[in-house]
Amino acid sequence: MEVISVNLQSSKYDIVIENGILDDVGAEVREIYKEIKIAVVTDDNVYKLYGKTVEKSLKKYNFKPCFIILNPGEDSKSIETLQNLYDNFLKFGLTRSDLVIALGGGVIGDLAGFAAATYLRGIEFVQIPTTLLAQIDSSIGGKVAVNLKQGKNLIGSFYQPKKVIIDPLAIKTLSNEQLKAGLSEVIKYACIKDEQFFNYLMEIKTMKDLFNSLEYIIYTCCNIKKEIVEIDEKDNGIRMILNFGHTLGHALERYLNFNITHGEAVAIGMHYITNKTEELGYTKRGSKFKLEKLLDNFNINYDLPNVDMETIRKYILFDKKNKSGNINLVILRKIGEAFIETVPIERINYFF
Ligand code: NAD
Repeated sequence: MEVISVNLQSSKYDIVIENGILDDVGAEVREIYKEIKIAVVTDDNVYKLYGKTVEKSLKKYNFKPCFIILNPGEDSKSIETLQNLYDNFLKFGLTRSDLVIALGGGVIGDLAGFAAATYLRGIEFVQIPTTLLAQIDSSIGGKVAVNLKQGKNLIGSFYQPKKVIIDPLAIKTLSNEQLKAGLSEVIKYACIKDEQFFNYLMEIKTMKDLFNSLEYIIYTCCNIKKEIVEIDEKDNGIRMILNFGHTLGHALERYLNFNITHGEAVAIGMHYITNKTEELGYTKRGSKFKLEKLLDNFNINYDLPNVDMETIRKYILFDKKNKSGNINLVILRKIGEAFIETVPIERINYFF
């Protein structure tokens, strides 16, 4: 078992990573929670695959779980579903000393985390992420949110879990599309922070190699995110480097009405900006080629579809991450090293 301790000013918690740990979730939860009632928020797909395993293990440790099973997909990250969660928490008699578990992908983690952050002014929660994206990214760092009709993640908070329990074997049942979405973010971590990890990923040639390496891959990504979040919990500085590829990626998702996975949009964004910054002399020559090779290695598309760049630029300018007339653009100095360039919005054409 790999354990990563996250030490923040406001809280401290462990990320535990082990193949098969879903069978022993009860023991992990018992270490941080002494009462019995738990609201387990999950979605229908995840419940069918792992619900019974988690329920059995929780009951073995004398917990009383109540499963709240939602429709899979981004539409569930809504105010309406949030209200539904509160209703179920109240019906179950969940009090401030009880616990919420988020069992699922990033949608479930963000939604259940926000519900936990706000229900009775905050009750404790545990993340059990089951997609690769959730295991390496969304379950760590405490960002929880729901969407509004006007845009994604517009209502949210920073609210840290008490524990993150990761079973890399859960990735075996993910669709290829979801797997690639997570792998794009894995590549992002390697690009911004760790050249050796980048080279390690280059050596993965088969699905068997990939699954044999998953525990290490997840551990490495979680460790990178932990180090960044520990320095900048509230996303005011260095944490922004996690947005590598996201400036164009977010605009593209919006342009395509979210008919593209977040991962593919990020891959296109990472490639586009690296191509540009290499041309402009910000990025070491050859970095774009290396990035292409790694994306090809995992069969991840990075070609920008036919889009109207004027509209894309408009979306980039209205991204909620922009501050006081500036865009914080994440640029690679070379593979394994990134920096933030603050670009006044008048200069956006220079990059996009
Ligand atoms: P998701 O939660 O919708 O899961 C994708 C699909 O995979 C769903 O259909 C789900 O039912 C299914 N699934 C989950 N686990 C499975 C498994 N083990 N086997 C088979 N199917 C499984 O999507 P996601 O990509 O995990 O998360 C996307 C969300 O995460 C977005 O809402 C995004 O805004 C958010 N996010 C949050 C952060 C953060 O820091 N909080 C970071 C990145 C993304």
